[in-house]
Amino acid sequence: MPDLPLTRKIPPALLALMLSAAGLLAITTGARAATAPKIEGATVKQQGQDLVLTVRTAKPLALSKLGPRPDVRRAGTAYLCFGFAPAAGGGETRLCLGGPKGRKRVGVVNVDTDGKPIGRSAVAAKVRRPKPTKLVASLVAGPTHPTGLRPGHYQWVVLAANGGCKVRHECATQFPSEEAGAKAFRLRPVRAVGCTGGDAELVSSADTERKVVALTFDDGPSEYTERYLDVLREKDVPATFFEIGQEMPGREATMRRILAEGDELGDHTMNHVEYPGYGQIAGAAARIKAYTGFQPCLFRPPGGAQNQAVIDTAGSLGMKTIIWDVDPRDWSLPGTSEIYSNIVNNARPGSIILMHDGGGPRDETLAALPQIIDTLRARGFGFETVSALLGDKILYRPYG
Ligand SMILES: [Zn+2]
Repeated sequence: MPDLPLTRKIPPALLALMLSAAGLLAITTGARAATAPKIEGATVKQQGQDLVLTVRTAKPLALSKLGPRPDVRRAGTAYLCFGFAPAAGGGETRLCLGGPKGRKRVGVVNVDTDGKPIGRSAVAAKVRRPKPTKLVASLVAGPTHPTGLRPGHYQWVVLAANGGCKVRHECATQFPSEEAGAKAFRLRPVRAVGCTGGDAELVSSADTERKVVALTFDDGPSEYTERYLDVLREKDVPATFFEIGQEMPGREATMRRILAEGDELGDHTMNHVEYPGYGQIAGAAARIKAYTGFQPCLFRPPGGAQNQAVIDTAGSLGMKTIIWDVDPRDWSLPGTSEIYSNIVNNARPGSIILMHDGGGPRDETLAALPQIIDTLRARGFGFETVSALLGDKILYRPYG
C-alpha cells in the first residue's frame, strides 16, 4: 500500500470512524488498567507442617499471568502475594502465587522495611483451584522452613494487581484494606510426631529408578552424633538414625535436633540385642517417643539379624524392618578411604547405606562422610530419609 500523501484529506466519515475506534480503544484499555482485582476474602491457616493460604476473588485470575516474584512497587506487574510482616517489626516475606509453574511453586520475595526486594526464591507448593474464583496454596512451613518464615507472630495482607496500567495504585489492591488493617497470625513451631507406612515388612532397598539413596547411621546417639549432624546440615542432606535405647538418656537434645532438622529417627532395640523380642523393640520406641514426641515407624535389627517373628513384632508396634544393601563395614575400622570407596562404588538408585555414628570410635566414618556425599551428588544422586525413599511420609503437628 502506497504511503498516503501528507496533504491528502481524510474523508469525514473515515475520520469519524478512526476517532471513535481510537476512543473506544482508549476506554477499553483505560478501564482494564484501572481495575484492580477484587478480593472477596482470604485466610491463612496452619495444617500439620503446611501453611495453607486461601484467597477468593470476584473474577477468576489467570494464575499463569501472575508474576511469581514481583516487585509490587512497579506499575504494570500482575501479582497475587500474601505478605507476612513480623509483628516485632522488620521487612516482609511475600509468598506469591502464579507463574508458569504456578500449580507447583510459590515465589518468595523478601523485602526490606521500604518494600524494596532484597531476596527472591521459590518453594515447592500445591496450588489448587477448587472454584474458578478460589485459590488454595499449601506449602511446607516446617521444620526446616523453606519459606524463611520462622515460628512467631505475623501481620499479613494480600497484595494483588491485574497489571497493565501505568499508575500503580490504579490496578493494585490490598486485602484487608489499609483502613481495615492487617490480620494477625501466629506460625506455631512444628514437630515430627509419626510417619506413615510402619507395617510388618522387610526392606533392604527401595524399588525405584530415581537416583536417590538413604544414608543411615546406627548405634547412636553418641558423642559423635552432633558432628555428623553438622556435616549433614553443611551439605544439606537428610539422614536416618537408628538408635539404641540404652544410649539415649542424656542425649535427648541431640535426638530432638535430629528430628528438628528434618532427619528421621528409628528404633535399634533397647540393648542392641539380636533377634529381639517385644520388650527390646518396644522399649527403644517408647524412649524415642518420651524424649522427642516422635513415634518411630522404622526398626533396624541389630546385626541385620531378622526372621518373620522379628518383622511381625516390629510391625505390631507400627514399624517397618529396615536392613540395607550397601555395607562398608565401617564398625570394623577399615580406614576412611575404604569406607568411602565401598559406598560410592556400590550405591545405586534406591540404596539404603549402612554406617555408624555410635558403638565405638567413629572418626573414620565421620571423616569419610563429606566426600561420600560430594561424590554421590556429583554422580547425580539425591538423598532422602528412609521413609521418604520408600514413599512414606513424616507427620508433623504444630505445638506450643
Ligand atoms: Zn547396631
